[in-house]
Amino acid sequence: MKVIVDLDACQGYACCMMEAPEVFDLDEDAGKVLLLVESPSEGLRTKTEAAVRACPAKALKLED
Ligand code: SF4
Repeated sequence: MKVIVDLDACQGYACCMMEAPEVFDLDEDAGKVLLLVESPSEGLRTKTEAAVRACPAKALKLED
């Protein structure tokens, strides 16, 4: 599983970080998401999928 981030679309809402803090952080200077883990383990799949759904800007995608 690989996380794809569209930084142009990201608006820095940080919803992703609230759903999966192991995978996402917020770069406060840039006001954009900071990807902590590019390929999360299967144990983080549920949280990572929730983060992708939670993004209001549709800036996150998962690839298997
Ligand atoms: S929820 Fe979406 S818009 Fe908000 S910080 Fe995460 S990737 Fe960016």
